[in-house]
Amino acid sequence: MKDGLILVGAPGSGKGTQGQLLVEHLGYQKMSTGDLLRKEIKSGSKLGLRVQDIVASGNLVSDDIVAELIENEIVRLGDTRLYFDGYPRNLAQAKKLGEILSQKNPVKAVINFEVPSEVLVKRAVGRRVCGQCERIYHLQFNPPKNGNFCDFCDVELTHRSDDKEEKVRHRLVVYETETKPILTHYHELGLLKTLDASADKDQVFTKVREIIEL
Ligand code: ADP
Ligand code: AMP
Repeated sequence: MKDGLILVGAPGSGKGTQGQLLVEHLGYQKMSTGDLLRKEIKSGSKLGLRVQDIVASGNLVSDDIVAELIENEIVRLGDTRLYFDGYPRNLAQAKKLGEILSQKNPVKAVINFEVPSEVLVKRAVGRRVCGQCERIYHLQFNPPKNGNFCDFCDVELTHRSDDKEEKVRHRLVVYETETKPILTHYHELGLLKTLDASADKDQVFTKVREIIEL
């Protein structure tokens, strides 16, 4: 891994959307524990069956499970520009990632996406995703051109079961209580860059680029 970035923010804050831009414009590869877990669930694997109820509830799966997923992915992806989306999600995971990456591959920055909570709910509830290429749409803010189908794959878009309003509100509480403490940790390490992510996606990406190019 090189030029590693960690994207932190509540559900709906735009990490996946900005990640897509990092892939398209700056040659980054994605490391999303949420995507990896959803893939396991979709395939019906043993691991998928173990985690499906937890993911559907909006709670966090165990630290050991996600650590194993990311260790395998880091090896698989090799020496590429990498960003982490949705990992780490608590202090123990942040410390574990520090051990995994060690001094050899330190992350370049931790980008914290701040968005008011009512906007987060609207964004997450209106999110639709392509199960094939993982592109992210929004019914109002980034609508597909053709009904409920992906612009690129022509596959019907899905509404994540954990994107129902009540689940989103629970996930926001989980974020506040379990994930937010990692911000202090990364601030102390001098890595934290916070930005207002409530602007439109291109304006947010301009700020992301400024951080990376510092
Ligand atoms: P996260 O990965 O942080 O959960 P996403 O990138 O999936 O967030 O974005 C959540 C929803 O908000 C998606 O439907 C996406 O299209 C929409 N969205 C993302 N960024 C913006 C933005 N800057 N303005 C408006 N809507 C956005
Ligand atoms: P996300 O796609 O990042 O919104 O994650 C969806 C769900 O996957 C979360 O609500 C958790 O149930 C699970 N999940 C994703 N990443 C992690 C993680 N790092 N630690 C624990 N659970 C995770």
